[in-house]
Amino acid sequence: MFILDNQTPLPPTEKIWIDQPYLTECEATILHIKDNYIVTDCTIFYAESGGQVADQGWINDTRVIDVQKQPGYLIHIKRVDVDVPSVQINTVVVHIVEEGHSLQIGQKVNMRLNWSLRYIHMRYHSASHFLYHAVSSIYGKDGKSPYTRGCYIYSESARFDYADTLDSSLIPEVSSLVNDLIAKGENIIMEPDPNTKEISYWRYGNIIIPCGGTHVCNAMEIGPVQVKRKKVGKTTTRVYAYLSERKN
Ligand SMILES: [Zn+2]
Repeated sequence: MFILDNQTPLPPTEKIWIDQPYLTECEATILHIKDNYIVTDCTIFYAESGGQVADQGWINDTRVIDVQKQPGYLIHIKRVDVDVPSVQINTVVVHIVEEGHSLQIGQKVNMRLNWSLRYIHMRYHSASHFLYHAVSSIYGKDGKSPYTRGCYIYSESARFDYADTLDSSLIPEVSSLVNDLIAKGENIIMEPDPNTKEISYWRYGNIIIPCGGTHVCNAMEIGPVQVKRKKVGKTTTRVYAYLSERKN
């Protein structure tokens, strides 16, 4: 989806959150403005993708209400140990701000995240990987996860939709596995792909999941989670993780 027209060539946005997911503020320069769409040279804002919703916050005193990205180019990475989805890299991040702003092209600005929202997204995104791993381990066949129709990670839950009935009697096993893994309290490692920083390999012990999202550094930050299952229509089962602890 193009949000801006393609008339103005814009460089890929430097995504500071890849290396510094705990950074809450940064300086940036505005490169392009169209109405309430703002493009900067770099950003700490995460644009909606991979199921994780967009960050919110402020550019100077102007509220950022949504963040999307323009397609860059599609990269297909092959690895023997893990399936890597094709991803858009070199994307341009578009900050959608409230109407009536006074921001100007060339202006140096302060970017500030709504950190409590971002941090809960980080905790939920990390929790979603444990949930995905546990569902794959308990319901998967021949080392493959049940077919995943989609996922959604936001401030209330992390969830996956599976094209599978996922027998409800096994949900307690999923919950135990998720919580046992989290309780180990190990560090979560984000190892960038050698071809692009925009995809990393999320590692926890010997679990590897390709990902372009934001994560906590240590599983203890997630805390215990509740796992729930719900049938959605005839052929889809939704599995949720809910955090139990408030952290900020
Ligand atoms: Zn992920």
